[in-house]
Formats: sequence, structure tokens, C-alpha cells
Amino acid sequence: MTTAELPHPTAEATPAPRSMADAPLPAYESHSSISMYRGCPLRYGFRYVERRPGEVSPGQFAFGSAVHKAFEAFGLARIRARAEGTPEPGPEVLQTALDAKLARSGLTLDEVEDARRRAVPVLSRFLALEAATAAEPVAVELGFGVNVALPAAGSAEAGAVRFVGYVDRVDRSTDGSTEIVDYKTGRARSQADVDADTQLTAYAFGCARGGLRDPASGETLPPASRLGIYFAESGALAWTTRTDEQLAAFETGLVETVGRIHAREFEARPAPWRCRWCEYRRECPRSARRPDGDRARRPAQPAAPPATNEIGGMRWMTCSTTSRTSSTRRHPRASCSSRARASSMTTRTTPMASAAPAGAAAGGAPAGAKTSAPAARPTATATTSSRARQRRCIGE
Ligand code: SF4
Repeated sequence: MTTAELPHPTAEATPAPRSMADAPLPAYESHSSISMYRGCPLRYGFRYVERRPGEVSPGQFAFGSAVHKAFEAFGLARIRARAEGTPEPGPEVLQTALDAKLARSGLTLDEVEDARRRAVPVLSRFLALEAATAAEPVAVELGFGVNVALPAAGSAEAGAVRFVGYVDRVDRSTDGSTEIVDYKTGRARSQADVDADTQLTAYAFGCARGGLRDPASGETLPPASRLGIYFAESGALAWTTRTDEQLAAFETGLVETVGRIHAREFEARPAPWRCRWCEYRRECPRSARRPDGDRARRPAQPAAPPATNEIGGMRWMTCSTTSRTSSTRRHPRASCSSRARASSMTTRTTPMASAAPAGAAAGGAPAGAKTSAPAARPTATATTSSRARQRRCIGE
């Protein structure tokens, strides 16, 4: 080897690119990671095996994250107040937490103000819900981790996989059972969607396996008697349950999916609606939605008519300038110059296409995001908060 062929002395300090063909597989899985795999295995490989940062827009999830933070702060304050016998928290707790989160969100001042206005009815509805709730708050953002056995034969990595998650809200019902609530800032969904929601099933599974513990006492919480999704922007709280058979089916599906991950099956599943929200759409060679405007791979689509959506008491017109289609009827950019109040419009939008959350479950919107459908905003490289949460959620 000549001197010119010797590796540069600093080369060792630069991590070699990871390859999904041989890089270590994740030590744990979550509902987000499994959903992403089921949507597009290649996307999973990019994120969880090669650990590419991807591209997310600054402030892409800002509103949803801020609302979640406000709800979390209020829940914590309420738990603390009850433990200490002090007065219940008021709306200032919600507003302070919301403002602090928005201030760090990367939004412009105008966008922050718009988000604050949008949050006014959201916070007031939440306060009313809290006042009417008889259940005892136990924890917010409660993590769990349970081991799931893998087949002893037919798998190169037989043993167990750790399944982890974070629950937005855990209450103790008046009968002592556990209630789990997930907060959503996207559009409200039907009862059938809530009944089929795999994220709630994942939480029910973690709880049934003894993964949730009361932070105050350390005691394992009993299985969830009911699970709910609180749609923050409509104020609707939809309850559902999961049977033992449903939890067993969930486990079977989880094991099957992990088996495919361990077999390193990372094939691409391009689809316009899926690739549109993928953080790797710029670098993915199989993307059906290239940012350079190459739509050759997309099937022809009829032009979507203008539509409106009602959010927080205001109705917004779909932005023709930014060419949002039916999968994102929410106005994509609060600061967009073509934003228009639709109060003068007579057309009422149809519900947003179901591609997103059930689709999100299938890998539509970035997995793990408990936020509204993201705007395909000019990008900046960043990691998502959901990934940070997953990294924190490894232990019992
Ligand atoms: S751009 Fe499309 S095909 Fe490529 S990883 Fe993302 S979802 Fe999969």
C-alpha cells in the first residue's frame, strides 16, 4: 500500500455510512417504527437501520407539539396539586407551556401568533373536559417497555424484542381500573377508526403486559378498561376497548413484522400519498414524489376543487399556490400569502382523506407524529421529537 492509499488519519473519526444490509438492527420497536415498516420497509430502513436524519420542515409539527406540551404540563400540575393538596391548576399553566413550546418551534412570529389564536378554543375545551373528568390522573407521558417473545426456530435472531411506547395520559377510573387517553390535533375520526386504531391497541397491549406503572407508587397498573382518543381541535373524546383476542392478534402481527425486519426485508413501497410525507423523498431512489417536480411516476390526478376546512372556529381555503391536494385540506402554511379566510365561501369541505392517520398508521404522515398532517415545507435536516422519545423509552 502506498502512502497515497493509506487512510487519512481523521478518517477513523468520521462514522462510516451505515448500510441496512448489515448495520445493527434497532434494540427495540415501537408502534411508530412498526407502522413505518408496514407502510414502507425502505423508509424504516433509512430511519431505524441506517439512521439517516431525513428532512423535516422547521415547525412542521409545531402546533401539535405545543398543544401536547400544554396538556402534559396541565396534567402534571394537576397530579402534583392533588398529591400536595393545593388548588387545581388554571388556564395559565396551559398557556405558559404552549407559549414556551411555540417559542422554540422555529415558527416565525406571525406563525406563532396564528398558532396561539388557533389554540384558544383548543385549550378552553380541554379545561372544560378536565373539569368534567371524574377519573384520577395518574401520569402523563408515561413510558412502557415489554418483552415480546420471538419464535425459537426459523429466525436468525430468535429470542425477544422489546416493545416500547409512551402514553399521553393515564387515569385511574372510579372503579380502580386504568384508562388510557391519546391526544390528537388532527381531524376527528370516526368511531370505527378509533375502534381499529393500532396505536391504542399498542398501548392496551403494553398495559396488559404489565408495562405501565404508577410513577407515585411504582405499582403495576391493571389492564386498561377503556382507551380513548381526545381530538383536541373538535373537543371530541371517543372511547373504545380491546379484547384479549385483539391483543393476541396484535402480538402475532408484531412478531411477524419483527421477523421480516430481522430478515432485513427492506423493499420500497412507493405511492404518491405516502412519499409525499416521507422525510426521505428527496434522497430515495424509489420515491413517487420527487421534490424536483418529477411527477412522471405519479398517476394523473384530476385537479382538486377549492375546499375549506373548519379549524378552531375558522374556515380556511385550500391553498392553490402551494398546490395542496385532498390529503391536506388544513391550510399548509399559516404564513402563506394566499391564505384566505373562507368565511365568504359557501362550500364546506369534505373530511380530509383517510390517507393520513390510518394511513399514518400505514406510514402516511411521519410515523409517531401525533400531530396534524404536516405541510411539505422547504426542508431542513432535523431529527423528530418522536425519535427522541423512542430513544428515551427503552427501560422499564
Ligand atoms: S420516498 Fe416513498 S418509497 Fe422512498 S422511502 Fe419514502 S415512502 Fe418509501
